[in-house]
Amino acid sequence: MRAAVLHGFGKLTVDEVPDPVPGPDEVVVDVTCVQPSVTECGLILGEPIALHGHLARSLRAGPVRFGGHEFCGVVSHGAAGVPVGATVTAVETIHCGRCAACRRSRPDACARPDFIGFTRPGAFAERVAVPAASVVPVPAGVSASAAAAIQPLAGAVHAHAEADVRPGESVLVIGAGVMGLLAVQVARHGNAGAVIVAGRSPAKLDLARRFGADLVLGADDDVRRAVREATDGIGADVVVETAGGPPEAGLAGSATLDLAARCVRRGGRIVMVSVLPQRFEAPVGLLREKSVALLHPRSGAGGYSPGATVFEYALRLVARGDVDVESLVTHRLQGIDALPTAVEMTANKAAHGAINPVQVSL
Ligand SMILES: [Zn+2]
Repeated sequence: MRAAVLHGFGKLTVDEVPDPVPGPDEVVVDVTCVQPSVTECGLILGEPIALHGHLARSLRAGPVRFGGHEFCGVVSHGAAGVPVGATVTAVETIHCGRCAACRRSRPDACARPDFIGFTRPGAFAERVAVPAASVVPVPAGVSASAAAAIQPLAGAVHAHAEADVRPGESVLVIGAGVMGLLAVQVARHGNAGAVIVAGRSPAKLDLARRFGADLVLGADDDVRRAVREATDGIGADVVVETAGGPPEAGLAGSATLDLAARCVRRGGRIVMVSVLPQRFEAPVGLLREKSVALLHPRSGAGGYSPGATVFEYALRLVARGDVDVESLVTHRLQGIDALPTAVEMTANKAAHGAINPVQVSL
């Protein structure tokens, strides 16, 4: 079969490789749609994030099969409970089941988790083998495109749950990229009261309006003032921050965390969805003064507890039409040979006007 192979940082090609051989209790999925995650793109380009050290060591030993944990496909080799012909996706994190944490029923603290597409071959390929236990069936009414984009939505569900939003609480979402627009929809269909979003791109803010945001603030608005007015001078109960990070990657630096700290109410919560560098300037004095909780949801949606149920819940949100994922998929390419282009475009989403990562249909 054909699959993406990383020959060195920035050198991703699509090569002929052996077909996957499923282990016991594993299934083989014929990939129908896959999208690179922003983290994968950064790792491919050699950025010092997440699993960079692991990847650098692997590359020293030779070319590496890399990428593809956000995908949809059809089972071609089944296992108990996962029949041939089923349309599925899979949770990317696989806990080991043997370490001390796993044995204490804390798989979210697993010492040796596997990651599809990172530590084992993923779906940047025509076929991928995954544990049957990681497979999540895709319900009727959810397209392959939406199923391939389900992990970020599961992440947005985690972030909303992490904030413990109580009925009627105001939620300010900072950033109107893919995570911001998912956060708006989850808050709207969760139990939030006023949903406020602050972004820059008029096209994305139009989507936020369509997704039910009560107040949409653009680049020219005084966000702090507008939030205070909308919350009777109290400030937002919850702020979901989605736009911070290195300016060289097109992100807002620490400005959005500063804004979050100024807009959140005393005793409120800020959920950091942005993936930040090791060292980052933060307004800790103001956060302390206002007794604000700074929360960090788990990265990705994990095979971690509560695991697949989050994927199933996210897929149901899409199947019912509560959350619109497909309107965020602005760019689609055809054929596995388009994978390196999809990675390049996803790494430069702003330049290409993309919202969701660029998808590849096989
Ligand atoms: Zn473990």
